[in-house]
Amino acid sequence: MNKPKIVVLGAGYGGLMTTVRLQKLLGVNEADIVLINKHDYHYETTWLHEASAGTLHHDRVRYTISDVINKSKVQFIQDTVEEIKKEEKKVVLANGEVSYDYLVVALGGESETFGIKGLKEYAFAIANVNAARQIREHIDYQFATFQLDKNEDCLSIVVGGAGFTGIEFLGELTNRVPELCKEYDIDPKKVKIYCVEAAPMVLPGFDPELVQYATALLEKKGVEFHIGTAIKECTPEGVLVAKGENEPELIKAGTVIWAAGVRGNAVIEKSGFDAMRGRVKVDEYLRLPGSDNIFIIGDSSLVINEEINRPYPPTAQIAMQQGENVAKNLAKLTRGTNEELEKFVFDNKGTVCSLGDDDAIGVVFGKKVTGYKASFMKKMVDNRALFLIGGLPLVLKKGKLNLYK
Ligand SMILES: Cc1cc2nc3c(=O)[nH]c(=O)nc-3n(C[C@H](O)[C@H](O)[C@H](O)COP(=O)(O)OP(=O)(O)OC[C@H]3O[C@@H](n4cnc5c(N)ncnc54)[C@H](O)[C@@H]3O)c2cc1C
Repeated sequence: MNKPKIVVLGAGYGGLMTTVRLQKLLGVNEADIVLINKHDYHYETTWLHEASAGTLHHDRVRYTISDVINKSKVQFIQDTVEEIKKEEKKVVLANGEVSYDYLVVALGGESETFGIKGLKEYAFAIANVNAARQIREHIDYQFATFQLDKNEDCLSIVVGGAGFTGIEFLGELTNRVPELCKEYDIDPKKVKIYCVEAAPMVLPGFDPELVQYATALLEKKGVEFHIGTAIKECTPEGVLVAKGENEPELIKAGTVIWAAGVRGNAVIEKSGFDAMRGRVKVDEYLRLPGSDNIFIIGDSSLVINEEINRPYPPTAQIAMQQGENVAKNLAKLTRGTNEELEKFVFDNKGTVCSLGDDDAIGVVFGKKVTGYKASFMKKMVDNRALFLIGGLPLVLKKGKLNLYK
């Protein structure tokens, strides 16, 4: 009898969770499982701001995929997905094609620039390990250049966006700048760090008291917030910003980081799936509407929070829970036992936003936490993600074990 073929696209939080759960749930003879990813490693997207700021080496944020998959059950293909041809039940890769019976699309998200001129060309996005390496090197280069030509614009850094990613990056950056100043013999007073946010608040959706804690801490460490201020254009010199109807002003900067929006992977729209900013509003079983064999999870999917009738923000937490749900349902489907599928219900365990390695804010199990306690919780959350994929050996190899900082 032919075994059903399950193909998982993307080895991020959602895709890898689906794969490791499937390899536990299904026997070798029950299904062929194929995992496809651009690189031969998985990276912790939620740690990329650390690698970008240079506070954590990029090798600490990634691990080899073959270390966590069971090769007797899962075939790993390193390749780039270009398009999904759903009528033909196949996936077009840069170097070939793969057919499937069941497909899990977990290709993550991309930076959303909202059509703002120059952002694609002149700003960096904290997107993956290669981007993080480039950002770290670029900031270093700017500091080194200052010592040669004394142009203070090299020491000016603009972060676009005061959401989760922007604030976490600022937390790391403000810890890294004193080290950089020491390394390049620079007076720290010469360094300027701006955070420009179009919305009227920092960290929308977070508790106001916690937001106040975060902004006060970052301001103390040198961040100048420009809230309710939109980036109109990014140029090689910096960013043009405007508050309300005011005339745009130029903030000169040697480094611009764009951290203000996420859209679904470009493969979604290229494949002709109905989407909102590249994200597919999936059904209650996380399937592409109208399809019974294509599941979409993580940043390329959109699930509505019925309580407020708005989409859940794209997070690693939801991507991993979706991966678990899809794996359970795929085990039922491949066995053909006609068991009822399980609907996806998000269990929000809370959110912690780091403010560097030594401070954080968060709400965990309904309780507000700040400072060391929150930072400890953040490291536990990071370690938990490793544990869920690779158990204790992975935590010991890659985990954040400096819990007392
Ligand atoms: C700096 C930062 C901090 C964050 N902090 C948090 C946090 O604290 N908590 C939280 O819950 N969320 C956080 N997030 C959001 C979280 O990282 C994402 O929501 C999560 O990674 C989404 O998981 P995913 O499985 O959809 O995609 P990802 O984990 O991004 O994985 C996608 C995978 O697909 C691969 N891929 C992409 N395109 C292709 C292609 N064409 N072909 C083959 N492979 C491809 C990628 O290489 C990657 O391995 C943060 C994000 C950032 C950027």
